[in-house]
Amino acid sequence: MPNNSRIFLSSPHMSGNEQKYIQEAFEMNWIAPLGNNVDGFEQELAEYNNTKGAAVVTSGTAAIHLALRILGVEQGDTVFCSSLTFVASVNPILYQGATPILIDSEMDTWNMSPIALRKAFKDAKSKGKLPKAVIIVNLYGQSAKMDELLAVCDEYEVPVVEDAAESLGSTYNGRKSGTFGEFGVFSFNGNKIITTSGGGALVANDEVALQKARFLSTQARDPAVHYQHSELGYNYRMSNIVAGIGRGQLEILDERVQQRRAVYQRYFTAFSNIPGIEFQPELENSMSNRWLTALTVDPDVTGVSRYEIIEALAKENIEARPVWKPMHLQPLFEGVLYYPHEEENSVSDMLFKCGLCLPSGSNMTIEEQNRVIDIIMEKLV
Ligand SMILES: *Cc1c(COP(=O)(O)O)cnc(C)c1O
Repeated sequence: MPNNSRIFLSSPHMSGNEQKYIQEAFEMNWIAPLGNNVDGFEQELAEYNNTKGAAVVTSGTAAIHLALRILGVEQGDTVFCSSLTFVASVNPILYQGATPILIDSEMDTWNMSPIALRKAFKDAKSKGKLPKAVIIVNLYGQSAKMDELLAVCDEYEVPVVEDAAESLGSTYNGRKSGTFGEFGVFSFNGNKIITTSGGGALVANDEVALQKARFLSTQARDPAVHYQHSELGYNYRMSNIVAGIGRGQLEILDERVQQRRAVYQRYFTAFSNIPGIEFQPELENSMSNRWLTALTVDPDVTGVSRYEIIEALAKENIEARPVWKPMHLQPLFEGVLYYPHEEENSVSDMLFKCGLCLPSGSNMTIEEQNRVIDIIMEKLV
């Protein structure tokens, strides 16, 4: 009988040690509010990424929101952000009542185009209104061209938030992805490379800023015995139980990176010689965690569209997805200013039209991967 069990795009993969940390919290009755797992997870995340510190919160979205809040983004401000991303990168700009300005990708990494970014800065400068921050996203595990992008942001003295929700464990010039801006953001949502069932983190080298993030994420309580508040706060702090899952997951992060890269390598070996198929590149001097294997399918060359491939896989109980729909094409962001890589050449439009994400979980068996490869092969040749 053919094996038809469900194959997910990216599903949780526990190490087995998570329960040890949760058990400890139970034994100490440190279920809430904070406790040793929260402190431990923050320390271990900072050590792993080689930053001064970390602040763990309820989601990656919350982490981005806190970063913008601490950088002083307010109503009437603008914030630059990668257009080709998940909506969670941009929503916190709206939470602050600010206006996003969306920046296209380039082909070498699929991430923010330094050319488009420079153009956006030139225009902003000429209008006398620089953005308060730039959010740079690292798609599917691949770092953006940080040297080039940071050079532009430094020139205009605008701080960077690195949305590394998808690139935990990746590197750029030998340094951990997520450590290049004023703040780096990670997500531990259920489909990410490691998960706490839901959660997020900020990393930074500014301990004062991180302390501010912890303060804002616990309702901004002033140091007084009575409940006193001078600032607007949020209920964003990660719980001690959830942090326990994170500690168990962080222990095996590097193994998960190798497993995802091996999944990518098998797809690459199977499809890279087929005309009309191009994989998301790995930039020289960078290492992608290959959170998701992403590729483009040129239907004029292959004779099939990526939707036909997604459908063929769906019929066999396998989940595959198009590349993110760029934010400048979303009804939510209609009318928002957008800077393409070149006049008449919007790279993210092309990537959206042809881009495909394949099932990439670190817990996929070789047999499961062969199922995916065989179905796609049948469509392509
Ligand atoms: C997952 C993700 C987020 C949001 O993280 P949550 O923990 O789900 O809030 C932000 N940005 C990108 C690029 C993501 O992929």
